[in-house]
Amino acid sequence: MSIVTKLKQSGERGRCPEQLGFGTAFSDHMFTQHYTADNGWHGAEIGPFRDLVLHPASAVLHYGQEVFEGLKAYRRQDGGINLFRPDRNAERFNRSARRMVMPEVDIDAHIDVIRQLVLVDEPWIPDGPDASLYIRPTLIANGALLGLGAAPSYLHFIFTAPVGAYYVEGFNPVSVYVSENYRRAVKGGVGEAKTGGNYSASLFVSESAAKEGYSQVLWLDAIEGRYVEEVGAMNICFVYRDGTIATPELTGSILAGVTRDSILKIAGSLGYDTVEKRLDIEEVISDIDSGEVMEVFGCGTAAVISPVGRLAYKGQDHLINNNESGPVATALYEKLTAIQYGRADDPFGWVQQIS
Ligand SMILES: *Cc1c(COP(=O)(O)O)cnc(C)c1O
Repeated sequence: MSIVTKLKQSGERGRCPEQLGFGTAFSDHMFTQHYTADNGWHGAEIGPFRDLVLHPASAVLHYGQEVFEGLKAYRRQDGGINLFRPDRNAERFNRSARRMVMPEVDIDAHIDVIRQLVLVDEPWIPDGPDASLYIRPTLIANGALLGLGAAPSYLHFIFTAPVGAYYVEGFNPVSVYVSENYRRAVKGGVGEAKTGGNYSASLFVSESAAKEGYSQVLWLDAIEGRYVEEVGAMNICFVYRDGTIATPELTGSILAGVTRDSILKIAGSLGYDTVEKRLDIEEVISDIDSGEVMEVFGCGTAAVISPVGRLAYKGQDHLINNNESGPVATALYEKLTAIQYGRADDPFGWVQQIS
C-alpha cells in the first residue's frame, strides 16, 4: 500500500555531479506529508525538491522541536539498489519523535515512501566506491503558536543527496579532540534522540577543535566528565590487544547507532569478543599509550567506519596505531560495505533490495 497520493515530476531534471562531497548536491524530488491533531497525517506526496514555506512562529525555528534521520541507498554491482536496515532507522525516528512530543509515523508507510522516492530519483544514486544516496527523513513542528508547548501541526519530509566519502581524509585516520570542559548530552536529556539541538549545542566545541586541526570531538559523560560517550555523529569503538572490541554502553545520553549495532554483530561473527561497558577516559588513554588499545574507530551511517589516528586529551596528543588505519577497522569496513552494496551474502537479513 502506498500513502503517496500525488507524484509530480519536476520539469527540469538535474544530474549527479561527478565529484561528490557530503551533502552539497541534492536530488530532484522530495516527500512531504502534514499532521494536525484534527486530521492526523494527510497530504502525502512526492513532488519536486523545493524550499519550504514556514510560519515565522513555527516551533521548529524557536524551540528546536524537530527530529531527523540518516540512512543510505547503495548501488549494487548489478545495477540494483539496496537499503540498509531501514526498519531500525524508522523505529529510531519514532523514538526520537516520542521524546520530542511529536506524532509518530507509520513505519511501513515511511519505509515505502523512502523506497518510492529513491526509485523516482534513481539516476541520482552514484555508483563509485563509497558513494551512495544519503536519505534524510525529517520531522518538524510548524504552525502558528508562539507559546511554549507542543506545536499544533507537523511536517514530515524526506529528501536525498548523492554523497561520496564523509571525511576528506577518506579511510585515512582522523584526529579527535576530547572535550574536557563542554558536554554534549546528559542522562535524562535528549542525547539519545536524533534532534537538532544536540548538534547546534556542539558546534562551538567542534569549531574550536577544527581550528586546532581536529576533525571531530569526543564527548565524555556529563556527570563525572570521565566516561567516553561518542563522537559528533559517530559511536566509538576500541580494539584491544586480546581481540576484544569495546564500545560505551548505551546509557541514555548516547545515540544508539545502527552502524554500532551492525559492527558489534559483524565483529562477533568474525570471532572478536565484543563488550558494551563504561570506558574510563584515563584508562583508555593509558591503554593507548601502552599499546594495549591497538585501534580506535568511529562508526556511523555517514562516515561508515572512520579510524582515529590521534586523540587529544588534556593538551596532549596520543597516537593510535602510529596514526595509520588498522587491520580490524579495515576488515570491519570491508565486511559491512560488502553487505551494504550487495557484494557479500547478508546472513543477518539487514539489506532490503528495492530494485
Ligand atoms: C546518527 C548518529 C550516530 C550514528 O548512528 P547510525 O545509525 O550508525 O548512523 C552516532 N552518534 C550520533 C550523535 C548521531 O547523530
